[in-house]
Amino acid sequence: MTTEKANVLIIGSGPAGYTAAIYAARAGLKPILYQGQQPGGQLTITNDVENYPGYPEGVMGPQMMMDFQKQAERFGTDIRHGLATGVDFTSYPHKVTIDDNLVIEANAVIISTGASAKWLNIPSEEKLNGKGVSACAVCDGFFFRQQDVAIVGGGDTACEEASYLSKICKKVYMLVRKDEMRASKIMQSRVLNTPNIEILWNSETDEILGEDEVTGVRVFNNKTNEKYELPISGFFVAIGHKPNTDIFTDYLDMDDAGYVRTVPGTSKTNVEGVFACGDAQDKIYRQAVTAAGSGCMAALDAERFLSAKEMELAEVTNS
Ligand code: NDP
Repeated sequence: MTTEKANVLIIGSGPAGYTAAIYAARAGLKPILYQGQQPGGQLTITNDVENYPGYPEGVMGPQMMMDFQKQAERFGTDIRHGLATGVDFTSYPHKVTIDDNLVIEANAVIISTGASAKWLNIPSEEKLNGKGVSACAVCDGFFFRQQDVAIVGGGDTACEEASYLSKICKKVYMLVRKDEMRASKIMQSRVLNTPNIEILWNSETDEILGEDEVTGVRVFNNKTNEKYELPISGFFVAIGHKPNTDIFTDYLDMDDAGYVRTVPGTSKTNVEGVFACGDAQDKIYRQAVTAAGSGCMAALDAERFLSAKEMELAEVTNS
């Protein structure tokens, strides 16, 4: 196994990772960034991004991520293809294995590995992804204003996104597969009391209908075994996200769902010199702009950590 030394190693290339890179590079920390499996992250599977400040006309998700990358490169970030496949945070410097064949020994590690939306995994969902099928109501709801849409899920995310959609769309059907919801009582009462949200209990998605765009959904009622079609133009999946944090499980404090726990108000994890930002540690907001903000925090925290470490070393050398 080859070994290489790095000052700041950034794992992941969404808005959090690239923003961390921009700040770290401008601070002279010579960051190396590994892009991971999906360079650019979740935004590369989004269409128009209209809610990121600074783009008054909106921007396509993949274009925005290319802009982020260019900006990170401009200040000298060493951006590389490759996937972090393992870590060892038991000794310092921290060790991160890339593609099972290179070990990077890093003075500071910034985790920005993001999260992946869970999907239903039915063929029509894949076919119509980006053509009316979305896993982000806040990103794409606006395209269905005054139209009828459906959302799948019965957790807090589904309730929150259904409430959001109800303010934009004419009618929101909520497909809940059981006769009860997992969401907190307050979120449930919010959707139950919104006149243009109709909850369809015991309802599963049999198929999303449409060729080039969503035209409807065929619903399967698992209590009556009945199938029927609803005309809709937007179909939202809100059945949870999975943070991409499996390789850190043995070292970092995480919640039950695998989101990395950070010290409130900072990006610090329980391991000194390891910082987390973006969706890998945020299950509440999950926006490009909040991810970017937390990437900035991670770079600033890393910079402070490294300065303190340098001073420590200087004191030891002088004493
Ligand atoms: P959850 O895991 O809590 O809920 C997922 C929902 O999707 C459940 O209703 C589940 O149904 C349903 N589901 C899962 N798979 C399928 C499927 N294949 N077909 C149909 N339905 C399916 O995920 P959330 O994203 O809602 O929440 C994740 C965490 O984040 C929670 O802890 C939540 O409280 C938190 N959160 C908090 C918010 C806040 O405080 N403002 C906002 C958003 C999230 P079933 O119950 O039948 O398994």
